[in-house]
Amino acid sequence: MSTSDLSSLLLSPLRRNAYDDDEEDSDSSQDESQQMKGAVHSYLEESIRPYIDLIDTLRSVGIQKDVALPTIAVIGDQSSGKSSVLEALSGVALPRGSGIVTRCPLELRLKKVTGGVKWKAVLSYRKKRNESVDSSFVAGPIKPSKLANGKVAHSTNDVKKFEFGDPSLVEEHVTAAQNELAGSGVGICDELITLEVMSPDVCDLTVIDLPGIARVPVKGQPQDIGNQIKHLIMKFIKKQETINLVVVPCNTDIATTEALKMAQEVDPEGGRTVAILTKPDLIDRGTEKDILDIVHNKVIPLSKGYTMVKCRGQQQIDENIPLEEATQIERDFFQNHDHFRDLLNEDKATIKCLAVKLTQNLVDHIKTSLPQLNQQIKKMLLDVKIELKECEPGPPEDLKGAKQFLVETLKRFSDQIDSLSSGEQMSGENLFVQLRAEFKKWNDHLNSTKTTFSNSKELSQTNRGRELPGFSNYRLFESLLQKHVANLKKPAVELLNAIKDIIIAHLTDVVSQCFRNYSVLQKTAKDKINNIQLTQQEKMEQMISEQFEMENLVYTQDPKYFKVLSEITNEKFSEDQLPIFDKNCKYSKMMEAYYEIVVQRMADQLPMMILFFMLKQTAQLLSTDMLCLVDGANVSELLFEDSDVSRRRKELRERRDRLSAAQEALNTFFFY
Ligand code: GDP
Ligand code: MG
Repeated sequence: MSTSDLSSLLLSPLRRNAYDDDEEDSDSSQDESQQMKGAVHSYLEESIRPYIDLIDTLRSVGIQKDVALPTIAVIGDQSSGKSSVLEALSGVALPRGSGIVTRCPLELRLKKVTGGVKWKAVLSYRKKRNESVDSSFVAGPIKPSKLANGKVAHSTNDVKKFEFGDPSLVEEHVTAAQNELAGSGVGICDELITLEVMSPDVCDLTVIDLPGIARVPVKGQPQDIGNQIKHLIMKFIKKQETINLVVVPCNTDIATTEALKMAQEVDPEGGRTVAILTKPDLIDRGTEKDILDIVHNKVIPLSKGYTMVKCRGQQQIDENIPLEEATQIERDFFQNHDHFRDLLNEDKATIKCLAVKLTQNLVDHIKTSLPQLNQQIKKMLLDVKIELKECEPGPPEDLKGAKQFLVETLKRFSDQIDSLSSGEQMSGENLFVQLRAEFKKWNDHLNSTKTTFSNSKELSQTNRGRELPGFSNYRLFESLLQKHVANLKKPAVELLNAIKDIIIAHLTDVVSQCFRNYSVLQKTAKDKINNIQLTQQEKMEQMISEQFEMENLVYTQDPKYFKVLSEITNEKFSEDQLPIFDKNCKYSKMMEAYYEIVVQRMADQLPMMILFFMLKQTAQLLSTDMLCLVDGANVSELLFEDSDVSRRRKELRERRDRLSAAQEALNTFFFY
C-alpha cells in the first residue's frame, strides 16, 4: 500500500462501513456489494469535500492570521507515539524516538496538489529575535550545501523558509529548526514550526504535533519543565477550533493519563476530544480485558470514543520498514490478535479507521464552527474598514489612481516650490527673512571697507615713478582701486555659499513636507536639488569672477562721481569735458567717491544675481524636473512608502483583502 492509498483513505473516508451505518444505509454489512458502497461513497464524498475545500480556501487566503481555523492538535506523554501517529496519518516521516523529540510545536499542513506536481515541502518559522537580518541567508538551520534536493527559498521579514523536494529531509530540517529555536539540548520552546507538505499523495489536513508531557525532568531540563510543557499544550488545546487528539499508550495506566485529564479540562463535553490508544503490541499480558473496557468507553467515557492503532516500533524504524508495509503489518496484527481482532469490525482499530474518524470529526467541527466564523469575519471586516478610513490616506491601489495621485503630489510640490521662491511662503521660518539678513551682512561689510584713501602710501611722493613731481599717473590710482575692490571677492563667494546653504535647507524642508511617506520621491528630489544647486553655484562663481574682472575696468557714469568732482574743482563737469588736475589731495576724494559707487553696485548686483541663479532658476529647474518624473515613471516604485503609517495601512489593507476573500468564500459556500 502506498502513501497515495493512505491518503486516498483520508480523503475518502467513506469506504468504511462505519459511515455506511451512519448514513442510514440499513442494508450495509460486511458483504455489501462494491457497487453499492461506491454509490454511498460518492454521495458522502460530495457532502464532506466542500467543507474541507472551504477551510482550504480560507487557509489559502491566509485567514488563519486573523481567526483560528479548525485544526487538530496531538497531545500525550513523551514517547506515547504522537509523532508516529501523525506520521502514519500523513505519510510524512517526522523526528521520532525515545526521550523528548518534539521540542517545539510543529504545524503540519498537508496540501493535496494535482496536475503532475511532485512532492514539495516548505518549512518555516519565525527568526529568533536577536538574530540579524543578513545572517538569515547563511546561518540557516541547515547549511545550503546540505540540502540535497532543496534550497533555501527565501527569508522575508522575520520568517525563515526552507523549501525542499526530498521527503527524507523532513527529519533533518525539523530537528535543525528545533535546535535553532529551542537550543540543541533538551529545552522546549513555544515558537511554532510550520511544515507545509504539498503532494498528490496527501490529504488536506492540518495537524499540530506538540511536545510530550514529561513527568520528571531529565538532565539539563529545568525543574518546572513539566509545567512549562503543560502550559504550552494548554495554549493550543483550549482553542475551541481545535480537535484534540489524545495519544495514550496501551502499556500505561490509561485512566491516570495526564493528557486525558487536560483534554477533559478544556473540553468537558468531549465534543472535540478524540482518544488514540497506541502500542497495543507492547501490553502486559493479562491487561487486554481492561484495555478493551477502555476502548468500549466503559472507564472514561468520551463522546468521540477511542481508536486503537499500532504504529512502527523502534525496531521497525531502525529496519527502515516503509510506512506502507507498516499499514499492512498493522492490519495483520489486529487480525491475528485474540483479544483485539473484533475492534476491526467495530471500527475502533487501525490508522485507516482513525483517518476516517478524524476527517469526519473535522468536518463536523467545521460545520459547527462555521456560523461563528462567519460572524467573526464579518465583524473584523467592518472594524478593519473603519480603521482604514481613520488611517492617513495613501496612494490608491490601482495603477491609474496611483498615477493620478503621483501627478497631484508632484504638482503640489511644484506649487510649494514656486511660492517659496516668490516669497509667498507662509509657514515656517521665512526664507526671505533669512536671505535679507545675509544681504544686510554683505552690505555692512561693503560699507566697512570704505576708506578715504588719504593715507595710501602709493600716493605719497616717495613712491612716485618716473613722473616729474606734480604730474600724476592714472595707472597708479587705477591699480589702487582695483586692489581694494578685489578684496571683496572672497566675502562675495562666502555670501554665495551662505545663501546656497539656506536655500537648500528650505527646499529640503518642502521636500520632507510634500513627500513625507515617500522615501524614493524624497531621495530623488534631494538629489535633484543638490545637482541643480551645484551647477548653479558653479555658474555663480564664474559670474562673480567675471564681475570682479569687469571691476578692473574702473568705470562709472554715476552722476554722484561728477558731483564730487565739481565740488573739488568748483566747476561744473560732464563726462565730455574733464578737468586737468594737478593736486594730489583731490585724488583721494575722487577715489573715495568712485569706491562708494562700486560699493553700491556690489550691494545690489550680487544679491540680485544670487537670488536669480540660486533661487529663481533653481526653483524652476527643480519644479520642471520633478513634474517630468511622471513621464514613463515606475509609479509604485516612486510612491514606495516606508513610514509607520504606511506600514500600518499596508497591513490593514492586506487584512481587509484577506477578510473580504474569506467572506466571499463563505458567501459562495452558504449560497450553494
Ligand atoms: P512521541 O514522543 O509521543 O512523539 O512518540 P514517538 O512517536 O516518537 O514514539 C516513541 C517511540 O515509540 C518510538 O520509538 C516509536 O517507534 C514507538 N512506537 C510508537 N508507536 C508504537 C507502536 O504502536 N508500537 C510499538 N512497538 N512502538 C511504537
Ligand atoms: Mg513526538
